[in-house]
Amino acid sequence: MIRRGRLAPSPTGVLHLGNARSFLLAWLDARARGGRVLLRIEDLDGPRVKPGAAEAAIADLEWLGLDWDEGPVFQKPRLGRYAEVLADLAARGLAYPCTCSRRDVLRAASAPHPGEEGPIYPGTCRGRWRSAEEARAATGREPSWRFAVPAGRTVTIRDRVAGERRWRVAEELGDFVIARSNGEPAYQLAVVVDDRDQGVTDVVRGDDLLPSAARQTLLWEALGARPPAWAHLPLVVGPDGRRLAKRHGDTTLARFRADGVAPEELCGWLAAWSGLRPPGARCRPAELIEGFNTAAVPREPVVWAGVGPAR
Ligand code: GLU
Repeated sequence: MIRRGRLAPSPTGVLHLGNARSFLLAWLDARARGGRVLLRIEDLDGPRVKPGAAEAAIADLEWLGLDWDEGPVFQKPRLGRYAEVLADLAARGLAYPCTCSRRDVLRAASAPHPGEEGPIYPGTCRGRWRSAEEARAATGREPSWRFAVPAGRTVTIRDRVAGERRWRVAEELGDFVIARSNGEPAYQLAVVVDDRDQGVTDVVRGDDLLPSAARQTLLWEALGARPPAWAHLPLVVGPDGRRLAKRHGDTTLARFRADGVAPEELCGWLAAWSGLRPPGARCRPAELIEGFNTAAVPREPVVWAGVGPAR
């Protein structure tokens, strides 16, 4: 079987060191196994999508030395496809309309990164409406849609980096949003429909999305397919232990490019963080392919403490 991995940036801002490391490792994972690489721009990421960010992400990836065999593919042209899958799930009683106006509904367009998981939904609208029409008529509100997590269901993931993880999904994660009231799919649904339709066999991304892998496993099963192999990487964090973000200063690739950092130098930092090269090395992604093994990536978070490799 030909393996297929994907790079799935959200065009919500410029790529930073944390994204770059995940993309480098996702790319290496596919390349080292003779697999194909798909570039998917997740342009349904709601109000966060910024004009020009897709082009900027593509330019950054190319500058770093990554390439792809398929894409870029976008999500916007596939709205009809997601709607079709949603209708099918609803018809089979696997999804239900929800008229609660909650923050987790508003935010569902984006992948839930740390601090964004939100409270567990108490199931208020489960079994409450027989149809979207009924929900709309009773509340005057356009409903969103939630996946009905089967009671007592456990999902076990054998992650290639994070190891074995288990969730009691109903209790620990709850019924999650799969479509927003504006008709657009939520992140969880779009990503599974895409990964399935696009033949993705391997998902390599930050471990902040591990709980989402449990949700996505249920969606894969609901679509009658086997989930991909998962590999969730430890994050790059700031000295405060939190996911690398604006508060840690400007760590965008654009900034390092503007400062005259060579792509080989930056790739060297990412490689050192991943145990692939000693600190201070310079390299191109293609030089890291031989012998690369995702399972050997260090399991501790990488601490970014300023320019250059922290360790
Ligand atoms: N576009 C998502 C993000 O940047 C990626 C989610 C995924 O890899 O499943 O957060």
